Amino acid sequence: MVSLSQVAVANAIPWPTAEHAGAWLTVDLSAIRDNYLALQARASGAACAAVVKADAYGLGADRVAPVLAAAGCRHFFVAHLEEGLRLRPHLPSSAAIYVLNGLMPDAEAECAEAGVTPVLNDLRQVEAWAAYARRHGRALPGVIQIDTGMSRLGLPLAEIEALADTPATLAGIELKAVMSHLACGDEPEHPANAEQLAAFEARRRLLPAAPACFANSAGIHLGPAYHFDMVRPGAALYGLAPVPGLPNPMKPVVRLDGRVIQVRDIAPGCAVGYGYSFRADRPMRIATLAVGYADGWLRSHSNTGSAYFEGIALPFVGRISMDSATLDASAVPPGRLFDGAPVELIGPHQSVDDVAAAAHTIGYEILTGLGSRYHRRYIG
Ligand SMILES: *Cc1c(COP(=O)(O)O)cnc(C)c1O
Repeated sequence: MVSLSQVAVANAIPWPTAEHAGAWLTVDLSAIRDNYLALQARASGAACAAVVKADAYGLGADRVAPVLAAAGCRHFFVAHLEEGLRLRPHLPSSAAIYVLNGLMPDAEAECAEAGVTPVLNDLRQVEAWAAYARRHGRALPGVIQIDTGMSRLGLPLAEIEALADTPATLAGIELKAVMSHLACGDEPEHPANAEQLAAFEARRRLLPAAPACFANSAGIHLGPAYHFDMVRPGAALYGLAPVPGLPNPMKPVVRLDGRVIQVRDIAPGCAVGYGYSFRADRPMRIATLAVGYADGWLRSHSNTGSAYFEGIALPFVGRISMDSATLDASAVPPGRLFDGAPVELIGPHQSVDDVAAAAHTIGYEILTGLGSRYHRRYIG
C-alpha cells in the first residue's frame, strides 16, 4: 500500500517540458466543465456524479476533479481505493468518493479512515464492511451494486434475496445508493437495455430504500427512465460521443500535436518502417513523428488514418514504432515541414473517436492510453 507521502512524491515528477517533448497534449478544462453542466441539465433532476477513474480517463484527476467540484459535482467515482486516496486532497470534504472495484479484503480501515465509500460488490464485502462498522461503533457509508446482467461486478439475485431475508446483515452500513451498470447502453436499440432496467427496478425493491444510480454517459442518453436519482457519466465529460454513430453533443476536450523529428524524400521502391509493410510506388516525402505506441499511439494505427499539417491530411505509412511513426507528407510543399513542427493527431480535423475508429478501438482506450511522455498543457 502506497502512503500519502509517497503519492505526493510520485505526483511531483514533472511532465516533459514543451521544448523537449515529442508531443503536446492540451486539455481544455472549461470544455469539461461545460460538458458536466450539459449532462447535469440532461439528467432530468437527478444528481450528476463524475467518473474520474484511471486518472480521469488519462486527463489528470488532480486537475479535472476540482473543476467538476467547482461546477457543483458532489459525487466522484474511481475504480481503485488507491485512486480514491490520491483524489481525496483535491476535493472538498463534502464531496463523496466511491470505489467501483469494491472493498478488497482487509481494506476496511484504510477506506474508513480516508473517508472513501466502497461500492459493495458481493455479500462478503457487505458483511465485512458492516462488521467493521459495528466493531467501531459507527455508521459507515456504502453503496450496493446489483448485477443486472453483466456478470462482472455486483450482487447476483441469490445474494440480494439472502440480504432481503436477513436485513440485519446491513446493520452499521449507511446505504448511500444502490447501483447497477449497463452492458449495451451505447446501442440504444439493444434489448438488453430494457431488460437490465426491469431487473434493476425489481431487485432494488428487495433492498432497503436508497437513492438509485444506473446510467453512464450512454445511459443518460437513453432517456429519463434510466436517470433515477443519480447518473454517473465518464466518457461524455471528456468529449467522447455518448452514443457512437450519432452527432456528438459534447465539446471536444483534448488536443494532441505530435512533433516532426525528421523529413526525407524517398524514391519509388523504397520501403518504410518495420517489416517493410509499406513501399513507395512514386517519389514521396516521409515525415517521422516523435510519437509511437509507447505513447499510446497504437500499433493498430499502422498504415491507416492520418495526421494533419496546416489542414493537409498526411496518411500514416509503415508500422507504428515504439517511439516514432511515419507519415506520407508528399502533399506538403517542400520546405514547409521543419524539425519540431507540430502535426495534429487529435484536434479540429479528427476527434478522439475518429482516431479510435481508425485504430479499430474505442475512444476510451485512446484517452486512457495517452502517454506519460507528452508535455501537458491545461487551458480554461
Ligand atoms: C466506467 C464506468 C462508468 C462511466 O462510464 P462512461 O461510459 O465512461 O460514461 C459508470 N459506471 C461504471 C460502473 C463504470 O465502470
